[in-house]
Amino acid sequence: MVNGLYMEKPGRVTWCEVPMTQKLQADEVKINVIYGGICGSDIGVYKGKLPHANYPVVPGHEILGEVVEAGQDAKVEIGDRVVVQPNSYCGKCEFCRAGKTNICPEKKSLGINKHGGFAEYFVVSSNYIVKVPEKLSNERAILIEPLAVIVHALKKVTIAKGSSMAIIGCGTEGMLAVALASYFGAKITAIDINPEKLAKVQDHYPAIEICHPENVHENQFDIVLEVAGVKESFEQCIEIVKPGGAVVAIGFPAVAEIPVVKMVRKELSIFGSIIYNVPDDFLSSIDYLLDENFYVEPIISDIMVVEDFEKAYEKAASGKYRKIVLAF
Ligand SMILES: [Zn+2]
Ligand SMILES: [Zn+2]
Repeated sequence: MVNGLYMEKPGRVTWCEVPMTQKLQADEVKINVIYGGICGSDIGVYKGKLPHANYPVVPGHEILGEVVEAGQDAKVEIGDRVVVQPNSYCGKCEFCRAGKTNICPEKKSLGINKHGGFAEYFVVSSNYIVKVPEKLSNERAILIEPLAVIVHALKKVTIAKGSSMAIIGCGTEGMLAVALASYFGAKITAIDINPEKLAKVQDHYPAIEICHPENVHENQFDIVLEVAGVKESFEQCIEIVKPGGAVVAIGFPAVAEIPVVKMVRKELSIFGSIIYNVPDDFLSSIDYLLDENFYVEPIISDIMVVEDFEKAYEKAASGKYRKIVLAF
């Protein structure tokens, strides 16, 4: 019997026995879950705001654990610490064959439209796990997946030392972007409508500038990263990016208006960026996290025992905290 979180419908989570394969397939592994990070999309599932979510569902996709059982063809060993790559793909379509598993039309996402890993144990194909190097602490390893989203987005552009960059939206992913772009040596301006969030980011990363969206001037930045997922923020990207600059969007408002004349006259590059490619972006993420000079300590605000899951979800949903991690 395996206990885990179970979401019958939006807003209703219980801790109970959850479905789990008893007999492992040859390529599968059973993981004893150590940490589970609560992500923005988990809150979307919780609030019933993700149209592609299925219920009931075992939530959770940011999973760190230890392999306790491995099928005969599994590519890892018992005792290995691993993180889960939570988006499945077909491996055969033209996109998968080009290494772009993130845009595979067969993609399914753990904890959203497939049972996830917020449970004591979790069974998954070893094709979807990545080994964590011994030197990496659990607290840094749980950031591999959310950081991979930023790694992928920032690979779309060239960030040189001193490149001017605006990051719109200072939630967890925004702060990870501040962390990574700082590490690359960019000159960063963090933008958010919430002064408390801005103050917190600057507190932890004193070299950056902070700014309310109303006070940003146009044509200021080589690169603008949209993380807020708000229509007005996306529209502002086009205004504040310099001619010849690049906009990278990882937030997704349903629609936004683009002044095409500005886009063309400024000769802008506009990139959409969805999750990451595996294993490449996971491996880059691990490389950065292995460097002690890469400062990510402020990203996790609380590690809470899973028994306190109700409080943890409330905290995460309030938007007043950074990443909340469940300990199993
Ligand atoms: Zn996530
Ligand atoms: Zn595919």
